[in-house]
Amino acid sequence: MGYYNENTILYRDGQFVKASEATIDLYSQSLHYGYGVFEGIRAYKTQSGATKIFKAEEHYERLKNSAAAMNIPYHFNNAELIEATYEVLARNNFQDAYIRPLIYVPANMSFSPSTTSHIVIEVWEMAPFLGEKLLRIMSSSFQRPNPKGFKIHAKATGHYVNSILASQEAKAKGFDEALLSDMNGYVAEGPGANIFFEKDGRVYTPALGNILPGITRATVIEICAALEIPVEEKLFTSEELKSADAAFFCGTAAEVIGWYSLDDQVFPKPWSESLGKLIQDAYMARVTEKEFKEEFA
Ligand code: PMP
Repeated sequence: MGYYNENTILYRDGQFVKASEATIDLYSQSLHYGYGVFEGIRAYKTQSGATKIFKAEEHYERLKNSAAAMNIPYHFNNAELIEATYEVLARNNFQDAYIRPLIYVPANMSFSPSTTSHIVIEVWEMAPFLGEKLLRIMSSSFQRPNPKGFKIHAKATGHYVNSILASQEAKAKGFDEALLSDMNGYVAEGPGANIFFEKDGRVYTPALGNILPGITRATVIEICAALEIPVEEKLFTSEELKSADAAFFCGTAAEVIGWYSLDDQVFPKPWSESLGKLIQDAYMARVTEKEFKEEFA
């Protein structure tokens, strides 16, 4: 995938510059040690035709919290960053787009904290949602990072080596994506998405603590409240998950995407009849600001 071309504009440290001309210091502590923080955000063309960044404040707030967790200076103003994000979208003429803010630190080969940091906001175009393909998931041999060794609630660049290993393992074995457990063996999350399952009219998701607190996960919980679908946050095993009626991943990039199977065991409820499908429709309506009428009593 080409993320940019010679016309692409990105935002860096208060300025709009050409992506093809922007460079990073090869002695950056972020590059050598995976010591940076980032966000993944989506913009949508809404029903009215306007461009809307979904939950922009929540994403920039998490970026700020991730930087604080990692002792990375954050001298940015979130309202200004949101304005700059809309500007970078407009300058690239994008509406349906993925937005990637990244905070990185200067040259430093030691482990000492930096006194400054840089921000870059990159955007690339996304195809509108299709979402009908169901995923074949594999239980990963990799676990999520131990929260006693990492600030797992932070969206830190280095944590994604774990995601890359798990995702590559699943794809090499012919699956679409991986499911990772936490250090105690309970179901945690995917390499870049949170997981929910449906059983007997209720929806379950792993409790916070060993997972990234997903903004889409929080949105799904809000949608369930609005649709009066009971949700429970708890620890569960992959055996319990395999006895579910249906399951799905959710995340800013993944949106809400149903599962076909886990370790080749097919979920019995057709996706079209599942609570996940209802939540998926409600989610897509929210992000595009369409009216959503629930037909579920
Ligand atoms: N877990 C991980 C490990 C992720 O990388 C992501 C994507 N940011 C998520 C969950 C979902 O988070 P969000 O809904 O905030 O995108």
